[in-house]
Amino acid sequence: MVSFYPGPSQLYPQVKNYMIEAYDCGILSKNHRSPDFIEMSQKTILSLKNKLNIPKDYTVFFTSSATECWEVLGQSFIDLFSLHIYNGAFGEKWYQYRRKLSPNAAAVEYSIQKTPSLNKLKNIDVYPEVICLTQNETSNGTQLKNRTIKKIKSQFPDSLLFVDATSSMGGVALDWLSADVWYASVQKCFGLPAGMAVMVCSKKAVEKAKSLNNNQHYNSMVFMSEKMENWQTTYTPNILTIFLLGKMMEEVPTITETHRILKQRKLDWEKFFSHNAYSPLIVNSQVRSDTVFAIKTHEKEVENIRNKAEEAGFTLGKGYGKWKKNTFRIANFPAIEEPAITQLKEILKNT
Ligand SMILES: *Cc1c(COP(=O)(O)O)cnc(C)c1O
Repeated sequence: MVSFYPGPSQLYPQVKNYMIEAYDCGILSKNHRSPDFIEMSQKTILSLKNKLNIPKDYTVFFTSSATECWEVLGQSFIDLFSLHIYNGAFGEKWYQYRRKLSPNAAAVEYSIQKTPSLNKLKNIDVYPEVICLTQNETSNGTQLKNRTIKKIKSQFPDSLLFVDATSSMGGVALDWLSADVWYASVQKCFGLPAGMAVMVCSKKAVEKAKSLNNNQHYNSMVFMSEKMENWQTTYTPNILTIFLLGKMMEEVPTITETHRILKQRKLDWEKFFSHNAYSPLIVNSQVRSDTVFAIKTHEKEVENIRNKAEEAGFTLGKGYGKWKKNTFRIANFPAIEEPAITQLKEILKNT
């Protein structure tokens, strides 16, 4: 079976042997304050920063999931007014989680076929001290380009910009400097087993968290950054996945090269869709995701197509949220190998 589900998704084939290696080398039985763990954790972070071009002065944290990142950011920056700009289910969920912690937040929704309008943001009556964006909205297959995020940053230079990049980090070359926090769980574009996320934070974000000093939670950013000064976490982390992430980051091409490959595959998929009468939910190619495609069709067809693919050994993603019934989704993640894509296209052609 090959999974085209956009999370949990197809693992890199090398993961199997690295899991055995993790077992054999004994790291999985080491204490998370031990020198061996610290060395491995540091190595993983340095490889990640190196492969993804993360600026030196950004801090990488390990958390358990993207959902936990919503929580960490919500409570660590709870005093700040938070503006959520989204067009789909994950952006909305983030907003709702934040509202549960404090009503000190507002939302602006935008069309799935457009880039968010900056004019609309002028009508917000409170200055957004924090702006929350979803770079790649996994539920509908849209993305925000680097230049869009940069524009929002330059319109609100004093705000902190937080970005959910769960289904793009590891595949897309992100412009780190244009935002203060970027996070992703690893079961999507990183091609790793579920149960961990990485959160990449600017110095400005970490300093701000320290000055707000909200430290009543085990996963407060203040406490997390104290521990991360020595490459550690506040709780016993997912040592296996930290190990796997480190190994994979040593092995994959640079993010520029990976992104180039994914963009080429996207062009090939788009040609395929138009030649075979498949309709992407997102008609504006400017906002269509590089890593998750949502295809719109009749409710019955969705089931039929997904079943046919499944019988042939390929799992397609279901629709999600508002688009649950009339779309299916295809991941364009780097762990998926070329022959599987060719074979899936053959199946879809004849369906
Ligand atoms: C999958 C996903 C999440 C949630 O990830 P978890 O690892 O389940 O917490 C959040 N945001 C986006 C954009 C996602 O795709």
